[in-house]
Amino acid sequence: MTLVTVPAPHWAGVPVRGPVVADRSDRARLSLSTLGVAAATSGLVWMAVSSLERRGGLGSSLAAGRAELLAPLVLGLVVATLLCERRWPAEGRPVLARGHLHDGTFFALHVIVVVPLMTLLGVAFAQLLGTHVSWLEVPGTASWPGWLLLAVTIVLMDGANWLAHWADHRFAPLWRLHALHHSQEELSVLTSFRAHPLSHLPGFLLATFPVIALMGGHSMAPALITGYICLGTLPHANLNWSFGPLGRIVVSPAYHRLHHALDGKDGYNLGVVLTVWDVLARRAQFPTKGAPATPTGLVDGSVRTEQTPDGRWHPGLLMTQLVEPFTIGPTVHPRPEPARP
Ligand SMILES: [Zn+2]
Ligand SMILES: [Zn+2]
Repeated sequence: MTLVTVPAPHWAGVPVRGPVVADRSDRARLSLSTLGVAAATSGLVWMAVSSLERRGGLGSSLAAGRAELLAPLVLGLVVATLLCERRWPAEGRPVLARGHLHDGTFFALHVIVVVPLMTLLGVAFAQLLGTHVSWLEVPGTASWPGWLLLAVTIVLMDGANWLAHWADHRFAPLWRLHALHHSQEELSVLTSFRAHPLSHLPGFLLATFPVIALMGGHSMAPALITGYICLGTLPHANLNWSFGPLGRIVVSPAYHRLHHALDGKDGYNLGVVLTVWDVLARRAQFPTKGAPATPTGLVDGSVRTEQTPDGRWHPGLLMTQLVEPFTIGPTVHPRPEPARP
């Protein structure tokens, strides 16, 4: 059995997203890389839980994480964006479209599983890097004005997230986990939560470096984390908004939609909040004013979706999607031809 990894974006004449993994076997087998990511995540969670329990801070840390990641501002932004999507949709569709309902189940998973997981990963990485790479700390940052220190840290965190996103598209083991996010054919603000829980590991690891380097043992102000999450959530909205001149700097829904485009260039528009990283890497593709909304999703059928003929009821399909990255196999889920505008 041979595993062939071919660089994106074209294989066998079919445009695909991420590195193509052509498996010449005819049976699915376990993905050791996904098992490795799962083991690493479990180890880090165990480390964070035992350390917090020793200090008696487990409950308060989880509550603080919930307050940052599910702040009223984040929930308010989601509701306001859903209303805007009804008024100015990039792609008209029913409010109870299959994609919306399914992303709703991902939102429930986000609240129940992902938010505590993100909180514990953040604690574990801060502890790990703070102990072993404290030499990374930039001297003298304590004398910087507070606003400057926070601004530089946030910008570098965004750069770290760009790098993690680039890696998601470049390396097959990471793409196996990230593909689920790209499988959405009915993009909406809720698609921000459509992600495999294990896909957060590289981003959290890389984003912790600038925090350790610039802020040492101090943590970021919760309001800043909440603000950053809001800016990172909005770009999935089903809106054709490009933010005008601001959209040259800040990722807009129209800009991020091109990243999800069915026949778009893979590895482009990887920015989470700022476009500057894409511009520097020559991977920015700015939306054309007045252009119709491009279809989104995965053309290669590598992820079972709610739109595929064998799509199941939502919680059952969600379980299938969470398990799929643990296998490498020849499974291809046929998908209907996308409706072109
Ligand atoms: Zn992506
Ligand atoms: Zn996205």
